[in-house]
Amino acid sequence: MSFMVNECTQCAHRVYPARLWCPACGHDQASAVAVDEAELLAWTRVPGPAGEADRLIATVQALPRGPALAVRLDAEAGAIGQRLRLVARQEHGVVLPWAEPVAE
Ligand SMILES: [Zn+2]
Repeated sequence: MSFMVNECTQCAHRVYPARLWCPACGHDQASAVAVDEAELLAWTRVPGPAGEADRLIATVQALPRGPALAVRLDAEAGAIGQRLRLVARQEHGVVLPWAEPVAE
């Protein structure tokens, strides 16, 4: 499932999560667009709740035009700047962005 962000219908600025008004131009209409690829900016390991595995959290820049997103990873990431594939996963009834390594 592709991960979706909101794109302003006036200036094409992209945001996630959705906003009532575009932070770039103030327009109030946006459409959902799929973003499939991202560049790794940073990642870290966060201890999970008692009895659960640690979580890997990354900050990524969605390509080609953003936005920056906080995403979950299944496995430790490689180098900063690495390309990742964005996917939407539903957890506890909420759709959230995850990123996976791109096969090269
Ligand atoms: Zn706009």
